[in-house]
Amino acid sequence: MITITSIAITAAEIELVTKALAAGHLVQGKLVEELETTVASYLGVDHAVAVNSGTAALHTALHAAGIKPGDEVITTPFSFVATANAILMCGATPVFADIDDKSFTIDPQSAESLITTKTKAILAVDLYGNPVDYEALKKICTAHHVPLIADSCQALGATYKSQKVGSLADVSVFSLYASKNIFSGEGGLITTNSTGIADRARLFRNHGQMYGKPYEYHGLGYNYRLTDVLAAIAIPQLAEINRLTGDRQNNARYLSAGLEDTQGIVTPPIESGIEHCFHQYTVKITEDFPLTRDELQAHLLSKDIESRVYYPRLLSTIPHVIAHSRPTPTPCADTIVNQVLSLPVHQHLSTADLDAIIAAVQSSATHG
Ligand SMILES: *Cc1c(COP(=O)(O)O)cnc(C)c1O
Repeated sequence: MITITSIAITAAEIELVTKALAAGHLVQGKLVEELETTVASYLGVDHAVAVNSGTAALHTALHAAGIKPGDEVITTPFSFVATANAILMCGATPVFADIDDKSFTIDPQSAESLITTKTKAILAVDLYGNPVDYEALKKICTAHHVPLIADSCQALGATYKSQKVGSLADVSVFSLYASKNIFSGEGGLITTNSTGIADRARLFRNHGQMYGKPYEYHGLGYNYRLTDVLAAIAIPQLAEINRLTGDRQNNARYLSAGLEDTQGIVTPPIESGIEHCFHQYTVKITEDFPLTRDELQAHLLSKDIESRVYYPRLLSTIPHVIAHSRPTPTPCADTIVNQVLSLPVHQHLSTADLDAIIAAVQSSATHG
């Protein structure tokens, strides 16, 4: 089976985890700090704050950016549920903008059209590892005096006009979940150049206490701390991030070269100056393709190739989200949600695997 994700733990990770265990330090300590300084220097940002999931990182980032009950946060309906849940966790209201037809990420014009006096942030998602239109979004956020928050959970390793994703928004969030390009199993990071945001994030993850100053509380906090053992899994991967990202990008280029002339298949956008890190390689299946998306998925499975739909429903259709959001039309997202299919692109695929994926899609098109 050619699987959609493939997790390999290397000797370097086992060695560092063993060291962490041997040190007997099971909570947040020196290795968490090393993870933070490694990520901050890789991205070129002043602060990285590690927490125990991407969802915790989103909640922390929104809190640190000042999001409060009653505020509105403009976001995309086409993402993982945690994007909307983090807004709800702050007691705020998600307002869903439409998405761009090519990148599947938030449409800046649509986002701007939804801004009201209640809007307190735009939360954009670098979906599949593809950077959002940072230039347009930053311009809008500056004009309306609201922070840009990036859910970059899928985009560690991506680059936008020679700046790393994670260094472009007022505050950015990464996930180190097991299936992400760089992982610790569970884990997350907040990155920012704002000392105020970083300070508030450090308090929020530790019950409102400053590290080393217990029982002095600076407001409500959670236990969002990461452990040294988990940090030890991610640190060695960061030394290899350029190679890991490059392998995925090469696989994506190979797939696109093989698929771009297939009628009814639209391959992911490649824009100059923008480096997608291909957490997912997602094609759009239009009505010109002879099979439905479900039929193509079944055909691929019959050839031992796994594929997935990220995501099969919009966040704006989930009951608990509807109950707390303001309804908005999103015609483009309504269409795209029924057209996307993610194919394997991870760094452990061989050329034979990639050829098999291309051949399976093409054979379904001709024999459909
Ligand atoms: C993975 C992911 C999250 C949540 O991260 P966890 O580490 O699983 O909590 C949030 N948003 C997006 C877009 C993600 O892909």
